Amino acid sequence: MKEFKRCPRCNFKTPSNMARCGNCGLNFEKFNSATNEEAKSAFRMGEKERILYSKQVPSDINKGQIFLMCLFGGWFGLHYFKLGKLWRGLFQIVGFAFAFIYAYFAVQQGIRNGYLGNLILVCGIIWVASFIIWITDAISIIFNRFKYPVSLPYSVKIEKMENVKLNNDDNIKKGE
Ligand SMILES: [Zn+2]
Repeated sequence: MKEFKRCPRCNFKTPSNMARCGNCGLNFEKFNSATNEEAKSAFRMGEKERILYSKQVPSDINKGQIFLMCLFGGWFGLHYFKLGKLWRGLFQIVGFAFAFIYAYFAVQQGIRNGYLGNLILVCGIIWVASFIIWITDAISIIFNRFKYPVSLPYSVKIEKMENVKLNNDDNIKKGE
């Protein structure tokens, strides 16, 4: 019986004895040297194309620590900030700030109708969304379903299929 593994870049099923993904050509051995620290620097430099999402826990990340951060601080995105995903972390903070507004107006003042009522409803939906993300993440981390942002150091670049050939004919046609 053959064993398979999923490519962390394209999710393609490849026999586990293969060195490269059969679909996108990712070199699995090189990928093992990918770290979250590199992904964070890629996020900071705005180089999103260098970031991959891996269900394999990166070597510089302690799964237990991420789980605890998510469990106790996930409602304000603590595990996202730790992994460098600042926008997702901010969404969590905003979601729970909205939750507070929702709770205040809906419970204290009993508003149900009109413009303000709708606004409160939207707050409630965002609250539920951020709550679901929090719980889902905690479960995903335990069962190795969570996707960690990782990147390779510059010295071990991921090969990219890039068409760098310039077609002068296109420019001529546009100029006419
Ligand atoms: Zn692949």
